[in-house]
Amino acid sequence: MAANELVILGGGESGVGAALLAQAKGIAVFLSDGGKLKDSYRTTLQNAGISFEEGQHTESRILAAAEVVKSPGIPATVPLVQKLHAKMTPVISEIEFAARYTRATLIGITGSNGKTTTTLLTYHLLKAAGLNVGLAGNIGDSFAAQVIVDQFAYYVLELSSFQLDDMYSTHLDVMVLLNITPDHLDRYGYVFQNYVDSKFRILQNALPDDPFIYFAENQPILDELAKRNPDVMRLPISLETQPDVGGYLSDGVLTATQNGQTFAVAQAKTTLTGPHNAINSLAAVLVAQAIGVTNDAIAEGLQTFTNAPHRMEPVGTINDVRFINDSKATNVDSVFYALSSMNAPTVWIAGGLDKGNDYSQLDEVVKHKVKALVCLGADNHKLMDYFRSTIPSICETQDVNEAVRMSLDLAQPGEVVLLSPACASFDLFKGYEDRGRQFKEAVTGMMNYK
Ligand code: ADP
Repeated sequence: MAANELVILGGGESGVGAALLAQAKGIAVFLSDGGKLKDSYRTTLQNAGISFEEGQHTESRILAAAEVVKSPGIPATVPLVQKLHAKMTPVISEIEFAARYTRATLIGITGSNGKTTTTLLTYHLLKAAGLNVGLAGNIGDSFAAQVIVDQFAYYVLELSSFQLDDMYSTHLDVMVLLNITPDHLDRYGYVFQNYVDSKFRILQNALPDDPFIYFAENQPILDELAKRNPDVMRLPISLETQPDVGGYLSDGVLTATQNGQTFAVAQAKTTLTGPHNAINSLAAVLVAQAIGVTNDAIAEGLQTFTNAPHRMEPVGTINDVRFINDSKATNVDSVFYALSSMNAPTVWIAGGLDKGNDYSQLDEVVKHKVKALVCLGADNHKLMDYFRSTIPSICETQDVNEAVRMSLDLAQPGEVVLLSPACASFDLFKGYEDRGRQFKEAVTGMMNYK
């Protein structure tokens, strides 16, 4: 064991990347994972000659660390991390660690919903404009591993609240905050303000001229801005009133203005639909504008973007009934937007692991859009009890194939079946991707059968 060792807690994509970066920079490093490592990560560590353990945490060695890089998956409340905090050992995220080793312009994107879509679109707009840009954070390849050879001029970083929690000195050149709605409260002592504070860490090192892009009709963001009054260049996005600078959606046209430049495009000419995606698109456009991408290049990029799967993804049509996979909608707010963008009577498939959901936000939209609810979860009581009086037809199952069959029986030609669960997936599936994939397979299977 070396003195002044960097200890990495968690051997996933970010942890292994951080270990590789540390080693490349000549820092003594030890990685510790309480669970089992993925085979590919174990091989990477072995090939690189990095010292590691799995299935255990050797506390004496970890507590002797000069600094710790903690995986975002490990809560700050676990005893080991508490002990590190008590010893005043710096505990940082992989993002914070990696940012020390890059000179690139950093674009940080956070929010309760829409991070991945906005990050991917921003990355696409910059790349399509010919900029030398990388993609990292809560998505794709480890940021730390990428900066070993610091080859990009820009990075678009998707930042979760867990990553922001362990960031202190990183200066983000452009910041995006899409929305703050209750999520992950189990990690924040069930105190919403703690979660708000975490999201606002995105502004912690902002300079007065740095662009800060945010959705202006999100009350928690507005309340917090009023309280903090940060000295930063504000670029609000609104669906209601046109700001002097910032983004605006009106009559189906997206408009973004800053630095005397105005960009406008019909949302129908972009590949993303729905009001939530208008916000995401405007955020990405404002980032691109802020770093000097031309209007023509932005327009082109918006037309050629393909979103990641499981986000309002069209799956296919059976008997003129359209099936949409929105498995990534794991909280109530994202379902609100998904249902809001429906333009035909909808059979809604929902359910799974409830994270303390309050469904009242959906009352109105459900009344207008939903004709039937198919509950797909191990325990569907809460969902069924809540919507019993508002949705005419409710059924339940624990089987995705049956959910698709039931939905098809309930829908008329011209109508829509939407999987938008509002819940986590771990009761019946390995994750939201697995849930979405099984849903798509069930629909495709039925398309072939019909
Ligand atoms: P995240 O990475 O923050 O989870 P995604 O882009 O993966 O966000 O989208 C997750 C879900 O949230 C999708 O189901 C999508 O329909 C919904 N969503 C996307 N953007 C927004 C937004 N701006 N506001 C509310 N919901 C959104």
